[in-house]
Amino acid sequence: MSDVSEISMDLLLSAHEYFEDMQSEYTRNRTEYTDKQIRDNGIAILAIEKAMPRLPRVNLIFGESGKPIKANGSCFTCGNLVQSDENTFCNKCGQRFDWETAIMLTLQRKVAEDEM
Ligand SMILES: [Zn+2]
Repeated sequence: MSDVSEISMDLLLSAHEYFEDMQSEYTRNRTEYTDKQIRDNGIAILAIEKAMPRLPRVNLIFGESGKPIKANGSCFTCGNLVQSDENTFCNKCGQRFDWETAIMLTLQRKVAEDEM
C-alpha cells in the first residue's frame, strides 16, 4: 500500500474502533500501561482520523457557462485555506478531504437557495 487513499473506509473505521477500545482499556486499568503506550495509542487515533476524508468548506468558482469549473476552500479540521480541489490533503494538518461530496452538497444548497 503506497497511499493512504488506497485504504478503505471500512478498514479505517475498524482500526479506529480498535484503538478507541484500547484507549478505554488504558483508562480502566491505567497502572498496567506505560505513558508511551498510552501516548502512542492516542497518536494512532489521530493519524487514523486524519486519513478519514472530511468535508472541506467549499468555495465554488464558476466559469462563463455558469457551471462550477473548480473549487477552493478551507480545512474543516484546522481552518487552513486550501487553494485547489486538487489538494487531496490539507498541507497544514494532513487532513484528507472528500471534495466530491463537499462540492455536491454545496451545489445542492445553492440550487435550493436559488429556488427560494
Ligand atoms: Zn487542516
